[in-house]
Amino acid sequence: MTTVNEPHPARWWEAVDNDRVRCDLCPHHCVLAPNQTGECRVRQNIGGKLYAIGYANTVALSIDPIEKKPFYHFFPGQSIFSVGPNGCNLHCRYCQNHFSSQSSTPTDHLSPEQVVRFANRPGVAGVAFTYTEPLVWYEYVMDTVRACQRSGFSTACVSNGYISLEPLEELLGAVDAFNFDLKSFSDDFYRSQCGGRLYPILRTIETAIQSPAHVEVALLLITNLNDSPEEVGKLCRWLAEHDPETPLHLSRYHPSWKLKLPSTPVATMMRSWEIAREAGLKHVYLGNVTLDDKYTETRCPDCDAVLIRRQSYQTRILGLNGETCTACGRKINIVNTV
Ligand code: SF4
Repeated sequence: MTTVNEPHPARWWEAVDNDRVRCDLCPHHCVLAPNQTGECRVRQNIGGKLYAIGYANTVALSIDPIEKKPFYHFFPGQSIFSVGPNGCNLHCRYCQNHFSSQSSTPTDHLSPEQVVRFANRPGVAGVAFTYTEPLVWYEYVMDTVRACQRSGFSTACVSNGYISLEPLEELLGAVDAFNFDLKSFSDDFYRSQCGGRLYPILRTIETAIQSPAHVEVALLLITNLNDSPEEVGKLCRWLAEHDPETPLHLSRYHPSWKLKLPSTPVATMMRSWEIAREAGLKHVYLGNVTLDDKYTETRCPDCDAVLIRRQSYQTRILGLNGETCTACGRKINIVNTV
């Protein structure tokens, strides 16, 4: 496979005047002069038209445990073929993938049909768009999703959720599952640490929860930046009001890229788990930290039977019959039908 730099026509843009265009894919609404690229670095004004210059170029391709994304309620125990682009429309100071998200790493060219061929092996539930920010790969994601649909494969996006409403609605009608990375419940945090705004991301999650797509949410708890009991409590109550059965992944921060704060204390992780449960969330998980099974296992919200037990990426389904609890028959918010 080789990198092909041929630009692909982009969607979601308008001409502003003779030679400038405005991209409306995300809330930045970048206005671009000729040859200029947007904040995401992968959408460019070429000759008065907008192009997706990273189309089909992936920085990584790998078959991963689906729990690694993380998805805990979407084909648990299965694998997923994972691809992702260079570029991102946010600029988080602690990004673990900053080599690809904030600058460019070598890519392999992979057509949508090739993705389907790679994914077509035993134990692989489908295709995940992940690693950096798949929303800025919009045209390729949609084309690949359609190719997957034709072949009966599921699709999933791991995303920051920073997208305009209209393209989001189209995406929600096509992609089967999303894990949205909600970075904080503070607009100041989004402005100072990520170069974005909170409101559009809350709108994305609300809209997605109301759609047929399966939704999980992740929050990286960062020492003294977004891990106060007040902020964690507010975020969890907000999520519980929209859907208390949405799985929430609380991940432990370690120093990364420009942010050199100490790792989040384990006690903060455990306290945040309790806060999330008290807020009414039924499925709360801790990540990037090894603790008691109770922080990673799935239990039935009604009868408390253990449904799934996880150790590292070893997943054992113990009490599920398809998507219902074997012990009491309760329907669980889980996609488990291959
Ligand atoms: S997708 Fe990229 S080019 Fe388009 S508005 Fe967002 S940051 Fe700007």
